[in-house]
Amino acid sequence: MQIAQPYLLRMTLFVDVRNMVRWTAETGPEQIIDGISRYIEQDFARWESFDKIARVGSHTPFGVIELMPTSDGETYAFKYVNGHPSNPARGYQTVSAFGALADVHNGYPVFLAEMTLLTALRTAAMSAMVARHLARPDSRRLALIGAGSQAEFQALGMRAALGISEVTVWDTDPAAMAKLARNLTPLGFDVTIAASGREAVRGADVVTTCTADKARATVLQDEWIEPGMHLNAIGGDCPGKTELDPTILLRDDVEVFVEFPPQTRIEGEIQAMPADFPVTELWEVVAGRRPGRSSASQVTLFDSVGFAIEDLSALRYVRDAVRGTPWVDDIDLVAEPEDPKDLFGMLTALLPIGS
Ligand code: NAD
Repeated sequence: MQIAQPYLLRMTLFVDVRNMVRWTAETGPEQIIDGISRYIEQDFARWESFDKIARVGSHTPFGVIELMPTSDGETYAFKYVNGHPSNPARGYQTVSAFGALADVHNGYPVFLAEMTLLTALRTAAMSAMVARHLARPDSRRLALIGAGSQAEFQALGMRAALGISEVTVWDTDPAAMAKLARNLTPLGFDVTIAASGREAVRGADVVTTCTADKARATVLQDEWIEPGMHLNAIGGDCPGKTELDPTILLRDDVEVFVEFPPQTRIEGEIQAMPADFPVTELWEVVAGRRPGRSSASQVTLFDSVGFAIEDLSALRYVRDAVRGTPWVDDIDLVAEPEDPKDLFGMLTALLPIGS
């Protein structure tokens, strides 16, 4: 006997790891990074319409687990993400993540996705969006310090933004540099493996630091900085975790650009600076309220930590792109009885009589 289903089926769209990987490979990661960067730009231009809070972190000796929420009044988004620098040595990823979009009017989740790969794409997209506004348009060479999970995506982001295909890399792990060259060379990049950080940075137009170490590290020294460089510092993103020689921040020719100051002052390179350390908010540059780069010789520094609005933009982009394609599944995530007041009624027809 067929038992009538006493509840409604209102499906949530879901992109799992397999579909995210296949969609990204078939569409092309550089094209997706470019697309997400345009969505981030649109969302930064309407910055004032978002609810914003610094992310909520749970810190332990292993690393951090964070929740990153935001809403524009119509759509709510959150990401769950961890950062565990000691993970690779134990066979795990440093960063893993998933996230969701929900309708604000009824609170129902409408889209759910893996975000480990998507975070790498969105972080590169954010780097690309910022580089379009701050880097010198004639930039030709990228120095990458750190050749881990984020690195190839960062290189693709700079090619999407500036046309850069010449990359010099430095990592303390020679295997990581060999992996980067192996992955990027077939994509048309000209990759040089440097003998030191200093050598990688010499003559570069854009310098991306993407190392992972829960420490006040110094992977970029003040004396290596050259006029006109754009510094894209993505790895220092947690209390007690920074990458730059702090004197770089104090140089007269450096301007520091940030996402959301209340979060960056806790997590970014500026965490060691006084609470009134001058920064420029990127949304103001995107919205045309503040200038970006002031001269060809100015050194622009993006103190990146990753902000919730970028995740909302990335989730919006994927949802729009995969709707109606084979790369998305429907999942039954919301328990919804026919009578909204009779949640128990979902069980009654299935409970054994007398139980
Ligand atoms: P990963 O562990 O895969 O790679 C880090 C690389 O840095 C490794 O290859 C390691 O050998 C290298 N390294 C460590 N110390 C170094 C040093 N002193 N000099 C040169 N190389 C060094 O990590 P990942 O997933 O690529 O992430 C990199 C960093 O970016 C992490 O700190 C992560 O938290 C951060 N991150 C930031 C954002 C953001 O939005 N700002 C987003 C994602 C990840």
